[in-house]
Formats: sequence, structure tokens, C-alpha cells
Amino acid sequence: MAKRDYYEVLGVSRNATEAEIKKAYRAKAKELHPDRNADRPEAEALFKEVNEAYDVLKDPQKKAAYDQFGHAAFEAGGPGAGGFRHGGPQGDADFASAFSDVFDDLFGDFMGHRGGRRRTAARRGSDLRYNLRVTLEEAYAGKRQTITVPGSAKCESCDGTGAEDGSAPVTCPTCSGMGKVRAQQGFFTIERTCPTCSGRGQVVKNPCRACGGSGRVHRERTLNVNIPPGVETGTRIRLAGEGEAGVNGGPPGDLYIFIEVAPHPIFEREGPDLHCRVPVPMTTAALGGEIEVPLLDGGRTRVKVPAGVQSGKQLRLREKGMPNLRGGRHGDLYLELQVETPVNLTPRQKELLREFEAAGKDNSPHSSNFFSKVKSFWEGMTG
Ligand SMILES: [Zn+2]
Ligand SMILES: [Zn+2]
Repeated sequence: MAKRDYYEVLGVSRNATEAEIKKAYRAKAKELHPDRNADRPEAEALFKEVNEAYDVLKDPQKKAAYDQFGHAAFEAGGPGAGGFRHGGPQGDADFASAFSDVFDDLFGDFMGHRGGRRRTAARRGSDLRYNLRVTLEEAYAGKRQTITVPGSAKCESCDGTGAEDGSAPVTCPTCSGMGKVRAQQGFFTIERTCPTCSGRGQVVKNPCRACGGSGRVHRERTLNVNIPPGVETGTRIRLAGEGEAGVNGGPPGDLYIFIEVAPHPIFEREGPDLHCRVPVPMTTAALGGEIEVPLLDGGRTRVKVPAGVQSGKQLRLREKGMPNLRGGRHGDLYLELQVETPVNLTPRQKELLREFEAAGKDNSPHSSNFFSKVKSFWEGMTG
């Protein structure tokens, strides 16, 4: 005997609401209850039929499967690909509902719903990444930066529902509002995003003109961001809640600002320290004196150069390096001295240097040492 249509069994239309289905079931169950129908032997079978129909139609997942595949949805072997199968009615309503309860306990969380009550899936908005290039001076001093973030925001026109004013979004008929459908694949029941509503759980009959029904509009946002002193390339600044708007009431994502510090023409950074090559006139290097060096804060400072200093000598200026992002001590500034050989000498300067040469003993700190090394090198070669 062919199975009767479940809607027909309960005496409701296919568009009946959850409440209408429940009401119809209660009335039928009361009417056909075996306790009250001792004189009607056929009532027991009808009672079972009503329970079986209600077991399916009360569950949005099963109802959706039934709507799509009819009784085939619950037959052994199940429908074809894209179908749905789990412990549905198998002639014994009590067994069926016990089985489906177990199923929901096992898979309810995984499937993203509990007992079929969850209508729309709230989803957290996406995180956004914003790349910000700053100068070394800005990394040193910190700055306030206005950034424009492209992105989407809740459509104010429809309050994010996607439905044109006055019309309400309706529960998606394919997934009954779950946003997901279950499908049998081999031994596994898998879930996938509902193709009809793209996971929103609702569909809009009359889409909002401002957002085209998506509930979100493209909106650039302007944020005032505080870039703290001491940032370096790779520093991430997290602005909680400034990412993409959430879906269906979900929380927004976060905005991450990725810092890149541009190379500087004078200073090289090494962690908290700064390095800088400073040219020193030959006479200052020989006689000693002072040089003026620039600082990253825009100021300058005078530094003592000891007499007889050589190229490559490093001077350390304590705490004149980069600030520490977490507070505390600054790094150091290292000056690498480069003694300059004078060029474009006037005749008078040449004369003085020749005089200097003739007057001198050996003033070089390295050359005598170097030539003695060369001598012993050749001696070693020739035996
Ligand atoms: Zn809208
Ligand atoms: Zn859907």
C-alpha cells in the first residue's frame, strides 16, 4: 500500500507553519488515540501514521528533506547525491523519534543547530588587514593616523535584513532556516552551506534597493589610529571590532594594521638600536674635536671625537636609539666614524701637507705593523 502524503495525513497545507502543524497533530492524535478508540481497530494504524507524519514535519531538517524528496528521503539507501538520510520513521514512530534524538545529540552541535530551534546562523565578520607604511621618524615618535577602511556595513535602509521596507525576510524553504543542509556521502553525513540562501537561513522576496538584498552595503570607514612609538616592520596593531560587520547579528571581526617602516637615508635600524655613518674631517680625526650629528627626533647633538680616531671607530650614544614599544629604555645610537681624505687641495694646502710629511716621524698606527707582517710573509715563502 502506497504511503500517504504526510501533509495529507495531518490535514494541513504544504505551506502550513510550525504552529499549524503542531495544532493539527494534537487534534488528530487526540481524536485517534487508542485509549479513546477501543471500538475502532483501524484507529491504531492511523494514530501511528499521524505520529510518523508529525515526527518528520516538526523537524525542519527532516521536513526540508521530505519536501524535496518525499518518502524517498527516508527509505533505505536514501535518495541520490545531495539528498538526506538519517534515522527517520521506519514504521515505528517511537523507535524513529528515539533514534533521531540520539542523532541530534551526536551531531546537533556539529551541524550547528539544536533541536531545530535555531533559525539563522550568526556569523562573526571577517578580519581585515590594513598595510601602513610609516617613516622611521614616525616610528620613532609615534603618530595619529587617519585610515580609510573599505568594507561593508549593515545596510541602514533595511536594518541588515536585505528586505525592502515593509516586507519581511522569510525562512529559507530549502534549509528551513538552518543555513545548512545535510547530505549523505558514503558512510558520512556531511553538511554544506545551503545553496538557496547561501547560509543566511532566510530568503528575501522583495529585496532592499539600497543593498540589493544582501543586507550589507559597501562603506568606507574612517578611523583615527594611534601608532605608538617604537613600531617596526612586522608590528601588528589590533583594533578589536573594527573588521567586517557580522552576519545575522554576529559580532564584527577585528582590524589588523600591519606596519612597514620605510628605509631611512641616514639611519639604519637594528632592533632597538640605530646605526649611522658619520664623516669626520681628517684634521678633526687627527687632532680631536667635536662633530655634530643629527637625531631622529629632528634635533642634533655634539659628540666629542678623540684625537687619533680611525675610520670604522664606533661611538655609542646611550638611549638615543628607538623607543621601546612596551615602554622602558630606548635603544642606543651607534655612530661609525669615517675619516675623510681631503680633496681639491689648494697649492697652499699641498705645501703644508708636504711640510707635514717631511717633518714627521711615522705617524701611522697601522702601516709599520702591516709592513712587518708583509716582510715575514715573504720570508716564510722563500724559506
Ligand atoms: Zn538594505
Ligand atoms: Zn537555505
